[in-house]
Amino acid sequence: MILIDGKKAAAELRNELKKEVAELKKIHNKVPGLTVILIGELAPSKIYVKNKEKSAVEVGLKSDVIRYPETVEEKTILEKIDELNKDESVSGILVQLPLPKHIDKQKVIEAISPGKDVDGFHPMNVGNLSSGYESSVPCTPLGCYLLIKKIEPNLSGKKAVVVGRSNLNGKPMTQLLLKENCTVTITHSKTADLKGECLKGDIVVAAVGIPELVKGDWVKKDAVVIDVGINKTEKGIVGDVAFEEVSKVAKALTPVPGGVGPMTIACLLKNTIECFKRSQKK
Ligand code: NAP
Repeated sequence: MILIDGKKAAAELRNELKKEVAELKKIHNKVPGLTVILIGELAPSKIYVKNKEKSAVEVGLKSDVIRYPETVEEKTILEKIDELNKDESVSGILVQLPLPKHIDKQKVIEAISPGKDVDGFHPMNVGNLSSGYESSVPCTPLGCYLLIKKIEPNLSGKKAVVVGRSNLNGKPMTQLLLKENCTVTITHSKTADLKGECLKGDIVVAAVGIPELVKGDWVKKDAVVIDVGINKTEKGIVGDVAFEEVSKVAKALTPVPGGVGPMTIACLLKNTIECFKRSQKK
């Protein structure tokens, strides 16, 4: 079984991106800039943002974090986004989720210019992705896609099963696999025979949030299995896939941690660079 090493893949991607940023600097005499807005004091959000900032600097991006207290008014955030949309030194804007309850998430997402939407959550990017046009793609499914392509460069005609239909993971993952000419089944909490559906997959991507939901006898021999889940349990952090069981059947499998997770931030940097390149073309 191939253990898909997300840490190594993310380090390789960051290396490529670092070279690309250096090239872009030579051509344009400036580097792509990522601005993150962080609201409140949630510990996981603070850790994510710190890691994003560190990785951005490592590849040579201009990186800014704008911090607001939990009580900040929605209007202040929308005005700041408007200012960043107009700022040419900012290629990508990310508002760290979750937001405090009094701030309308969708309003914030839609306020970000689609060309600077490095999370790929703006409806225009969602629509472009599903229409097969150029768009920002949400970072986690993009990371999954790049890992899958390392194992299966030609996905055409493969049967893919995506477990979970969130806007963050399952839906964009489905679009990416469809674009590669996979035959895709997207499953969810109301799917009648989840095990039966999973068993059909040459590729299985689990993005559910239930520890070890996908069992060894749910997976076809030699399937490629991508585990997006991050679940805190008494055993520690586990994924949505029963790792030990599935590793006996699958051709390739991502571990948790050390699989999809590290690719997410690397893909955020990739998206920032893509936004910069598109803005320079205009
Ligand atoms: P989410 O928004 O809660 O969506 C979960 C999806 O799973 C929903 O579509 C839900 O179906 C489906 N589901 C729930 N119970 C199910 C069941 N018993 N059988 C089949 N499907 C079921 O979750 P998410 O944001 O996509 O995140 C999923 C997991 O990925 C979480 O563990 C999260 O922590 C992790 N995650 C990891 C990364 C990373 O960088 N590695 C990034 C983001 C998220 P319904 O639509 O029918 O409710």
